[in-house]
Amino acid sequence: TAAPDLQAIIDRIAEEMAGQADRGKVADYIPGLARVDPKHFGISIATHDGKMYSAGDAAMPFSIQSVSKVFALTIALGKVGDSLWQRVGREPSGNAFNSIVQLEAEHGIPRNPFINAGAIVVADVILAGHQPKEAIGEILRFVRQIAGDDGIMIDDEVAKGEAETGFRNAALANYMRSFGNIHHPVEQVLGVYFHQCALTMTCEQLARAGRYLMLEGQHPDTGFNVISPMRARRINALMMLCGHYDGSGEFAFRVGIPGKSGVGGGIMLIVPGIASIAVWSPGLNDRGNSTLGSLALERLAVATGWSVFNQR
Ligand code: GLN
Repeated sequence: TAAPDLQAIIDRIAEEMAGQADRGKVADYIPGLARVDPKHFGISIATHDGKMYSAGDAAMPFSIQSVSKVFALTIALGKVGDSLWQRVGREPSGNAFNSIVQLEAEHGIPRNPFINAGAIVVADVILAGHQPKEAIGEILRFVRQIAGDDGIMIDDEVAKGEAETGFRNAALANYMRSFGNIHHPVEQVLGVYFHQCALTMTCEQLARAGRYLMLEGQHPDTGFNVISPMRARRINALMMLCGHYDGSGEFAFRVGIPGKSGVGGGIMLIVPGIASIAVWSPGLNDRGNSTLGSLALERLAVATGWSVFNQR
């Protein structure tokens, strides 16, 4: 089959998204997110052959929030390897991203690394042997390196807002610490987690950052392995099962491609061997996933035929 005309497809999708009335609700728990205009929509695609395609507000920075959990997991696996799985599970939670309920039955072991509790354990792993500032610096350097872009920043106002309102995350961290699954002072671990959530990126930067997950762990610019092929494959599996919290089944049903969402309205999508995609629209559905981002990716999957459930 002929290669799809990606630029034409995403231009059309961006146009269709501009006309959508139901955009969902912008996260409003901190001012840095609440003031973002729900009208924005952007999409970027980085393909396996090194091409980039963008449409809409693809060059506008936004708060990547929980999309950062994918990068943090990659760093933590690089540090401690598969021993990480003694402290974090690999099962979808079926609960909200910030839920505490399953932690009691599971003795402080979070269901997976992409819900808040799991990401807080991952932050604790990254913090080992570091001051919090160094751990935050390591995460920022890593993301800049995989994206090949030193312009990527952390929004300190967003990080501060997270800290001021993060009572639920503090509860999760303290609760896990009571089971011995957090090893550092809770304020330090949360400091790392909140700064990682406050990474600010454009769709173009985020699509470029995801390329190693489309390329079996290899960095396309250097040829070096960011992680092993097996780990890249497993991270993609986790994104498929857990990347949209209690909306993961719905996302897999509609889009059929592994993705990770964040409450800033971003979604990173990995079509293994083919493309790394970022989409952004700040309005969220009731599960905290981008309303138009999900719709746009559903249409992109139809238009391109991309899916991990149909191989051609
Ligand atoms: N900063 C948010 C939180 O910790 C991230 C959650 C998300 O993007 N789903 O609540």
